[in-house]
Amino acid sequence: MPEHGLVVVGASLAGLRAVEAARKGGYEGRIVLIGDEPHLPYDRPPLSKQMLAVNEDALPRDPTFRSREHLTKELAVQLELSTRATAVDVAERAVHCGAREFPYDALILATGSTARRLDGTHHLHGIHTLRTLDDSSKVRGELATATRVVVVGAGFIGAEVASAAHARGLPTTIVEAAPVPLVRAYGERMGRVCSQLHERNGVSLRLGAHVQGIEGAERVEAVLLSDGTRLEADLVVVGIGADPAVEWLHSADLGVEFGVTCDSRLATSAAGVYAAGDVARWHNPVFGRSMRLETWTSAAEQGAFAARNALGLDGAKEYGTVPYTWSDWYGSRLQFVGVPDAEDIEVVLGDVDGDQFVALYRLGDRLVGALAVNSPSVVMKYRAMIATGASWQDALDFAAARAARAARAR
Ligand SMILES: Cc1cc2nc3c(=O)[nH]c(=O)nc-3n(C[C@H](O)[C@H](O)[C@H](O)COP(=O)(O)OP(=O)(O)OC[C@H]3O[C@@H](n4cnc5c(N)ncnc54)[C@H](O)[C@@H]3O)c2cc1C
Repeated sequence: MPEHGLVVVGASLAGLRAVEAARKGGYEGRIVLIGDEPHLPYDRPPLSKQMLAVNEDALPRDPTFRSREHLTKELAVQLELSTRATAVDVAERAVHCGAREFPYDALILATGSTARRLDGTHHLHGIHTLRTLDDSSKVRGELATATRVVVVGAGFIGAEVASAAHARGLPTTIVEAAPVPLVRAYGERMGRVCSQLHERNGVSLRLGAHVQGIEGAERVEAVLLSDGTRLEADLVVVGIGADPAVEWLHSADLGVEFGVTCDSRLATSAAGVYAAGDVARWHNPVFGRSMRLETWTSAAEQGAFAARNALGLDGAKEYGTVPYTWSDWYGSRLQFVGVPDAEDIEVVLGDVDGDQFVALYRLGDRLVGALAVNSPSVVMKYRAMIATGASWQDALDFAAARAARAARAR
């Protein structure tokens, strides 16, 4: 019987880490990496940060993770770029890309997520989402000539784009439908606190504001809100979230529920099929519940776990994690670890009106989350405490001891 090997669909962070882990773990069989973008796997966080910076020196020359040579020669990967997977037949164990077919012994689904768009705006120049390298290049080009920017959505990507536009001196307005931004990421209280960074930096934030229409013949001219406001703009960036890229899986005999359903080992219900990264909804044993994360760290780690588990390289292991995300706005770094569903939040360092603070999140008698603004040295310590089930009191004691040490050092 021929060996079909490992097929990975999605040639980005999770897919790349999957093929790297397979080889690192000693797998010598065939590996096929299929991606619908024309680019080699590249890093996305710089697309809304360094790539949009005013200062040319801050531009990473190339966000590509690995060269073609490294992938095809050193890792012996069959690269199938510009190739869209259209279906998977889990009974036949084959991925279909239009008329082409890739049989597999083990399959990893790593198709990530797709940016949501504003309906009915495809025909207009000057309206962009920001998910891909090509999107980022377009937004960067337009920022150089824009005179007025509207950002739709006050999530991470919207905030980073607004910050980049502001750094170029462009009048910028953020339009957000929710009454408070970032509730899913930071909870209501801290979502409100962090969104104040916009107004403190001179960027107007309109909350509870719904886009009713876009004006313009060929190019966008204004954004119309449901309360009748007309915001002039020649660049509109839409950051209203992303959906897991699962549309190609609907005919497959797989659990798909806003993400591919997996167990704690990232295995789907189909034999030999695993999922990783933004597309995976898996059972996170650290919190005892199902989660789908859109974060760099978990995508990278899940890619590696999924490959090792799919190939049986070191026994099937559970993937448990304390979620970690970061975002950079107006020169501040915001980091969050854990989950934001708290009964209580206590600020243990600085104050929320300043440039630096740490807030801890309590659920029952446990520490479940920590938000650190411009406090990078402490955040991973709280992440480790959450992972080991530290009590709330332990977290407060730790914070008090650090504060005392800092006071002595002053
Ligand atoms: C602009 C931006 C900034 C970000 N900043 C941060 C940050 O600061 N911190 C953080 O923690 N996270 C950040 N993220 C999130 C992080 O980059 C993602 O969580 C991560 O990229 C997910 O990796 P992935 O491999 O699962 O999916 P993706 O990176 O989305 O890659 C999936 C790949 O699969 C391809 N694909 C989709 N469908 C198919 C198909 N049918 N056939 C073939 N290929 C297909 C896609 O085109 C894509 O290339 C950011 C994301 C973006 C877009």
